[in-house]
Amino acid sequence: MIVDTAPIRAFLDDKHIKLAGQVTEFATRLLEPLAEPADDATARQQARDLLAKLGAAGWFQPIHDQDWRACCLIREALGASSPLADAVFALQALGVVPMLLSSNDAMRQRWLEPATAGRAMASFAMTEPQAGSDAASLGTKAERDGDAYVLSGTKTFISNAGIADFYTVFATTDGAKRDKGIACFVVPADTPGLRFVRPLLLSSPHPLGEIAFQKARVPGACRLDKEGEGFKLGLATLDRVRATVGAAACGMAARALSEALAHAKSRQQFGRPLADFQLIQEKLARMATELTAARLLVYRAAWEKEPYGFTKGRRRSSTSSSPGSSSSEDRGNRWRAGGAVLRHINERGRPHARDHDPRAQPPG
Ligand SMILES: Cc1cc2nc3c(=O)[nH]c(=O)nc-3n(C[C@H](O)[C@H](O)[C@H](O)COP(=O)(O)OP(=O)(O)OC[C@H]3O[C@@H](n4cnc5c(N)ncnc54)[C@H](O)[C@@H]3O)c2cc1C
Repeated sequence: MIVDTAPIRAFLDDKHIKLAGQVTEFATRLLEPLAEPADDATARQQARDLLAKLGAAGWFQPIHDQDWRACCLIREALGASSPLADAVFALQALGVVPMLLSSNDAMRQRWLEPATAGRAMASFAMTEPQAGSDAASLGTKAERDGDAYVLSGTKTFISNAGIADFYTVFATTDGAKRDKGIACFVVPADTPGLRFVRPLLLSSPHPLGEIAFQKARVPGACRLDKEGEGFKLGLATLDRVRATVGAAACGMAARALSEALAHAKSRQQFGRPLADFQLIQEKLARMATELTAARLLVYRAAWEKEPYGFTKGRRRSSTSSSPGSSSSEDRGNRWRAGGAVLRHINERGRPHARDHDPRAQPPG
């Protein structure tokens, strides 16, 4: 699938045009031939392999450089060819950007190079069973103990749970202060007291799960935020990565359009290909138009900087840039957010016990 730069040329520099060609070539050669993982364990293994491939090819460098237009082009190409590869990219960004935005040199020195090279897998742990959209209400505690913090609590819907090398974790030092009490830590996966609880199975391959902190002791040096600014760091990260979410959706939509077009050309009815019928042509033309409009929004949001501000432009791009997403089924699914994509959800929208794979429980 070619990432077509012509419609979005106004928002790109010459280096982006070159990069679009290179990432298209990479995705076509290395990702398109990959078989879809048959189960969660295979998806987890494939995600780790993809991490190494993406890192070796240099695709995480634009995250390090905070070149969001480049990140959008990469996510369009990955989204069209391998949503799993796209998820790996997205989580590298979410896990690493808080470090880039912080003034914690020690954490940058420890994790940035291996994460950018694809040798260390990142994860972003904000969501909790009772704190989804209302992230400021999170209940994972970080209690000060000398020059360290002791973390206790559960995180759910965490991508790369169980396979990440480090987790960028949001926890509260003072629940009464809500968002102003939230701190942000980089926690190595092998920290005693940090436990992978269970995987959550999705309708498509994506390593997801729950992790728990049981008095996990984390050195103060792992804290990224200045006192009271951890939540701001989290939102600033989401603001920057958000346009790229829209780009991944555009890549997937471009793939859907390409498949629909191929089918319309090859399928014969009434002695003619479907593509000859005016009604089918109108549907395909509408898909193409909506896709181009969505891409323009995405690349404008990625390009846009102050004085317009990140949040306004970017939130608009990730909510309205899923072309063809206006059906009632899609609307019905989208309001349930995380719960809608689990393979099995109970009547309260939370994961069924069936999603719990006891084999994933490490001892202790
Ligand atoms: C595939 C996948 C991967 C994920 N990966 C991660 C990850 O790596 N790290 C992480 O921390 N989280 C992750 N999440 C969690 C994700 O961030 C949450 O799903 C999201 O924050 C929404 O929370 P929720 O699912 O609990 O929905 P809820 O908060 O229960 O919301 C349900 C619906 O109500 C709507 N709603 C909520 N409040 C309001 C309001 N005030 N006004 C109007 N509508 C409202 C929401 O928009 C949503 O449509 C992931 C989720 C999924 C599905």
